[in-house]
Amino acid sequence: MDTDVLVVGAGPTGMTLANELLTAGVSTLLVDRMARRSGLSKAGGVQSRTLEALDQRGLLEPLLATGDHPVAAGHFAGIPLPLDSDGHRLPWRSVPQVVIEGFFERHLAEHGLHARRDHELTGLAQDEDGVTAAFADGSALRARHLVAADGAHSTVRSLLRAAFPGQPGTLTIIAADVRLGGTDPAASHTWNEDGHWAALFPLGTDAQGRPLRRLVLGGPGRSLPRETPVTEDEIRDGLTTVFGTGVRLLELRYARRITNASRQVERYRHGRVFLAGDAAHVHLPLGAQGMNTGMQDAFNLGWKLGAAVHGWAPEHLLDTYHAERHPAGAAVLRNVRAQSLLMDWAGTRDPDVLATREVFTAMAQLPDVRRHLADLMSGTAVRYPMPGTGAHPLVGRPAPDLDLGTARVHELLRSGRGVLLDPADAFAKLAAPWTGRVDRTDRVAPGAGTGPMLIRPDGYVCWAGGDGLEAALGHWFGEPS
Ligand SMILES: Cc1cc2nc3c(=O)[nH]c(=O)nc-3n(C[C@H](O)[C@H](O)[C@H](O)COP(=O)(O)OP(=O)(O)OC[C@H]3O[C@@H](n4cnc5c(N)ncnc54)[C@H](O)[C@@H]3O)c2cc1C
Repeated sequence: MDTDVLVVGAGPTGMTLANELLTAGVSTLLVDRMARRSGLSKAGGVQSRTLEALDQRGLLEPLLATGDHPVAAGHFAGIPLPLDSDGHRLPWRSVPQVVIEGFFERHLAEHGLHARRDHELTGLAQDEDGVTAAFADGSALRARHLVAADGAHSTVRSLLRAAFPGQPGTLTIIAADVRLGGTDPAASHTWNEDGHWAALFPLGTDAQGRPLRRLVLGGPGRSLPRETPVTEDEIRDGLTTVFGTGVRLLELRYARRITNASRQVERYRHGRVFLAGDAAHVHLPLGAQGMNTGMQDAFNLGWKLGAAVHGWAPEHLLDTYHAERHPAGAAVLRNVRAQSLLMDWAGTRDPDVLATREVFTAMAQLPDVRRHLADLMSGTAVRYPMPGTGAHPLVGRPAPDLDLGTARVHELLRSGRGVLLDPADAFAKLAAPWTGRVDRTDRVAPGAGTGPMLIRPDGYVCWAGGDGLEAALGHWFGEPS
């Protein structure tokens, strides 16, 4: 074997996974076909759940220290959600994808992991013991496991002939990175009576400190074939149509057409090969869910591969990656489809759509509905199915970041091991055989407000309450040693 795990694709999914594998102490190779990292701005923000997961690895503070990354306003289908609507300790942050990729690249390099660039995977074969990957330059690498984080047009997915069902793209819209002058449009989403619309999101500043924006434009007649180059005139025309002559295009840095294709791979696991990120799911870019969902795939998969490589993974553990992340991805695809319908991306002005939007907008003012939508867009609504490890309401959910008096729960997870909160010091003997995989702590301040709880390395509660701890430890952390 050249390595334990070969990660194909050094985008946000691949780099997050590489970091999880390093944390798990697994030898990892990361390859990418591009000679250098793309400088394109893509997703613009980090959801609460991703911020939590970064905090669980001690990466949140250093990431936020890379620049000015303000708390960002969320929205669902263009309906603003108030900043604090999810009451979350870590509300949504505006951190462009390029910043995240640069941050991970430096962080991995500091830990000795440099992506092998100019390395395009072209072939794949797997057997009982491992996977052999062939590259365009004629070289080959062999690994125990391979993860396809090679994006929406995944080569690995094609080579596996993996079913990728869903809806093909039926329309395109324009996404552009721009600098604007003139009147500042107040709203992030603006619709015209004739169906033309525009959305604007902050993208930080350029080298001279001038604000950059992501502009998204759509409406009747705007849906051209995907390959058609976007012209400056088209952007100017779009701006004038929606905002009038008050808003001017000062600089067009980059523009492309994106489609509303919505697809999800049928199986996330193919033997020793796993699909993650855009390689597993594609949808319209709404709320940076593509990047965040990919990073969450990586947090879910990393420790499980670590357990398999170290030889203590229970038989079913690697299968739980599909069982947990496929429903989570499907939920994202559903909310994106609902949003694109409510936003009338096609610019149809269909009276049924407008009526639905009106009713939905009124409903979205109700506190419980706002909370539900905010949880959805924060990534915190995910509950993993965990059959067999208890019916406690916390099971399957992200662990609350309680202050235990000595440390916060998320700080305890920085080891990359599981955590057992044992406030009554009742489980020392029972949990001892899992030492090295699970850190038990009874240093819980009386006011911390928690009972016993078992938390996986990815921060999800996998047991809580009274009975069944031994079975849960065996279920998630393997045979006692
Ligand atoms: C221009 C653009 C704008 C976007 N804007 C938004 C947005 O505003 N909001 C939003 O939520 N999302 C947006 N997205 C989507 C978001 O960027 C993706 O969801 C995110 O990048 C997914 O990360 P990933 O790591 O899974 O895949 P990617 O970031 O696509 O990374 C895949 C990597 O694999 C490499 N690769 C591909 N094939 C091979 C191969 N055969 N061998 C080796 N390496 C290979 C590629 O070079 C690439 O580096 C945008 C995407 C693009 C392209």
